[in-house]
Amino acid sequence: MLPQEVIRAKRDGRALTDAEIAYFVTGITDGSITEGQAAAFAMAIFFRGMTRPEVIALTRGMRDSGTVLDWSGADLPGPPLDKHSTGGVGDKVSLMLAPIVAACGGAVPMISGRGLGHSGGTLDKMDAIAGYTTAPDNATFRRVVREVGCAIIGQTADLAPADRRLYAIRDVTATVESIPLITSSILSKKLAAGLRGLVMDVKFGTGAFMGTAEDGRALAESIVAVASGAGCQTTALLTDMNQVLGTTAGNAVEVREAIAYLAGEEVPDGSAGGPVGHAPGPGGREARQHEVTMALSAELLVTGGLFATVADARIACERALASGAAAERFARMVAALGGPADLLERPDAYLPLPEVTLAVHPSRAGFVVAEDARAIGVAIVGMGGGRVRADQPIDHAVGFTQVAPVGAAVGPDRPLCLVHARTPGQAEAAAAEVRAAITIGDEPPDATPVILERIAG
Ligand code: URA
Repeated sequence: MLPQEVIRAKRDGRALTDAEIAYFVTGITDGSITEGQAAAFAMAIFFRGMTRPEVIALTRGMRDSGTVLDWSGADLPGPPLDKHSTGGVGDKVSLMLAPIVAACGGAVPMISGRGLGHSGGTLDKMDAIAGYTTAPDNATFRRVVREVGCAIIGQTADLAPADRRLYAIRDVTATVESIPLITSSILSKKLAAGLRGLVMDVKFGTGAFMGTAEDGRALAESIVAVASGAGCQTTALLTDMNQVLGTTAGNAVEVREAIAYLAGEEVPDGSAGGPVGHAPGPGGREARQHEVTMALSAELLVTGGLFATVADARIACERALASGAAAERFARMVAALGGPADLLERPDAYLPLPEVTLAVHPSRAGFVVAEDARAIGVAIVGMGGGRVRADQPIDHAVGFTQVAPVGAAVGPDRPLCLVHARTPGQAEAAAAEVRAAITIGDEPPDATPVILERIAG
């Protein structure tokens, strides 16, 4: 078999055989397929698509390109469960969901990724915590999941290495936004993590890789079908990413927001003339972010067989928040993975905040009617909070806080957000990008639901 013949077949629109896909994945893993060939393969798939059996073969091949974790003898406190998001801006749900699910009886060995393009990555957020290691040895990872119930770490070198190489090539060859490639990429890692249940947060909108709900739905259906077919019970929620989720976007600032959420600090609602107009949900938590976090957590607990209904699971999740049990799990996880034992009591001591803070005022008073969330993600990358090259170090401190949501009244005393930057020049540049990303109108738009639908296998 020759790589160029496999590429040619896909380029011409033929469905590849299992043997051809296995051959290609082996070559990507051992390096015998060149970067150019892997890029051409990805581009051919991008344009020609793949049948469901091809996606299954690609997913299996990449899953088996490295170690497949087995939790059967690990004495976990519950079934191994995880959540995965297709990527957004301000999406810090993993930091809250993992301890909530752990507090409700699940075990969450969460293997998360770095930011991709404009979207933030859970791994980068956890790396913002001084001392926390996202690359523990395998024994430590297993011990923390067993003892605490959750551990958020990064992809190890031996977990789905074929995806690791292909993903890096796709990132720089404009081949990310492909349903077969995203499905196989995400699921190869999740299936290699040995999960019993998975819930997918499939995002659509200006800050997502899938711009429309239709594309998001097609991706969700593909992921649910392939994962469930591979023996991992999976459901997906289609969620709105047409605005920053919650009130912050960045790395350290999002960890602060997650801590405040777990601790039950009330979100500023703007009623005192403050800068944000977020609707507080139960317990004073920002309503849209809370809804997504609760819905995904509850789905996962049902998927794992720990609760019979989503309603029952949701009550348990709310209790885990109200009692402080979820916050306590998060604190224990951070300490067990090398972070400070008092992070929740003294977040300022461990989470960097840069020198300059600037309020971003709108060009005129009115209401936020639309937001280009992708442009806000790009502004974070521009400040150094994300990567332009895969090997680049990032600045965890920069970002945005008190981001006004769609529908908020803004004006001279109600800024669009606060920008946290290293220099006044950097802050001004980011402020200009935010102003351009947010559309102001005379009336608030109709409210839209944050969760559009549920897709089950
Ligand atoms: N996340 C992944 O892990 N892979 C993709 O292709 C896109 C998002």
